[in-house]
Amino acid sequence: MEEIIKGFLDLVKERNGHEAEFIQAVEEVAETVLPYIVQHDIYHGKNILLRMVEPERAITFRVNWVDDKGEIQVNRGYRVQMNSAIGPYKGGLRFHPSVTMSILKFLAFEQVFKNSLTTLPMGGGKGGSDFDPKGKSDNEIMRFCHAFMSELFRHIGSNTDIPAGDIGVGGREIGFLFGMYKKLRNEFTGVLTGKGMTWGGSLIRPEATGYGTVYFADKMLQTKGDSFKGKTVVISGSGNVAQYAAEKTIHLGGKVITLSDSSGYIVDHEGIDPDKLTFVMTLKNVKRARISEYVKTYPKATFVANKTPWEVKCDIALPCATQNELNENDADMLLKNGCICVSEGANMPSTKAAITKFHEAKILFAPGKASNAGGVATSGLEMTQNSLRYNWSRAEVDEKLKDIMSNIHDACIEYGKDEKTGYIDYVKGANIAGFVKVADAMLAQGVV
Ligand code: NDP
Repeated sequence: MEEIIKGFLDLVKERNGHEAEFIQAVEEVAETVLPYIVQHDIYHGKNILLRMVEPERAITFRVNWVDDKGEIQVNRGYRVQMNSAIGPYKGGLRFHPSVTMSILKFLAFEQVFKNSLTTLPMGGGKGGSDFDPKGKSDNEIMRFCHAFMSELFRHIGSNTDIPAGDIGVGGREIGFLFGMYKKLRNEFTGVLTGKGMTWGGSLIRPEATGYGTVYFADKMLQTKGDSFKGKTVVISGSGNVAQYAAEKTIHLGGKVITLSDSSGYIVDHEGIDPDKLTFVMTLKNVKRARISEYVKTYPKATFVANKTPWEVKCDIALPCATQNELNENDADMLLKNGCICVSEGANMPSTKAAITKFHEAKILFAPGKASNAGGVATSGLEMTQNSLRYNWSRAEVDEKLKDIMSNIHDACIEYGKDEKTGYIDYVKGANIAGFVKVADAMLAQGVV
């Protein structure tokens, strides 16, 4: 089996050698899915995984825009349309200077499995730009978003490809993108998700990824007869996912003691309560300031510059910032300090070596493609509401989100539980469960 996996990965590396993040994501899937393919005749010998690692289409385009000083700026835009076997392409847009084709291909590949796990009819895609929204005025953000959409609109549509937000793309950006799409197409359709409530959005969509990550962790804890009550929780990031992961954790009785951004983390051993979280939301979403400001208002807290929060003792860790933010040493520190559960809110935040440590220690570990699927699932619910021209209540959407997270958890158990030891390998479970649905659709549709 090892030779088959190596042969496959050598081929992927030969074709995509310079794309480190993409290869990392493919490796994780290949190691669990190839053995399953070999054991099942319907998938064996059909090059099905090889077809899945090749995007159906990947677009790059120039984005010219004018900054507040009147200077012309040039950025690069992308959309990776990875797989549409089970539905139109669906996945977020990321605006961050680190964005490359490798990052977007890894995210699009993960998205295919994640979207399949939600049980909703959505294929996988991802896009974005190397544009850095930090320090830009609202007008600059608007001009960039309009310029970006003036090319992207040709490639997307409510039955073709439905983008959403991701790092650097929140409600403000989705508004500007939607406005330009509507103008260019002269139609009001559900082409983007994460829209405002007065123009086609869904209740709970902003909260969904963070809430879902916590719902998933809660399901994992329940397998051990445990819960969030009284647990100390360390969270990284302070953006959309981190904020709502913190809100739901507090709601379920956990104590959140850290948040972070790319300049460092704050630790508040008294706990970040709802008032302090409201302060953080204003700080990050309205003032667009740095997390270090927290300690000016709450002086008992500490800011630790240029570090991640994994050195802080906790029961549960929720990485909610970015890829590869939790490495082998961080995993060692978490385990040494007694951490029993890691649920990924971000995409691929734990390195491969860190995941191996968690598996060896037999703690509860959920990969992002399972635990953060609540965001895209609720985007799927937004699409349904747009088609119905109807809005479900907050409680209805939250209930559906909980059900979806619970179903994903069940699917992970079905394919990931070791019958002898009882240990649930959520990575294996999520990869195989996500694969089966997409592979079956691809086989049914023939070689296209
Ligand atoms: P936001 O832009 O709202 O927040 C991102 C947070 O992560 C910020 O605190 C940011 O700090 C921090 N961050 C970003 N890049 C780095 C870096 N290189 N090093 C350290 N910190 C960093 O994004 P989201 O909360 O939406 O996304 C966070 C993660 O969740 C991403 O991995 C995303 O792909 C994933 N995700 C998001 C979904 C969604 O619905 N939004 C759905 C599923 C997954 P700073 O401000 O300093 O950059």
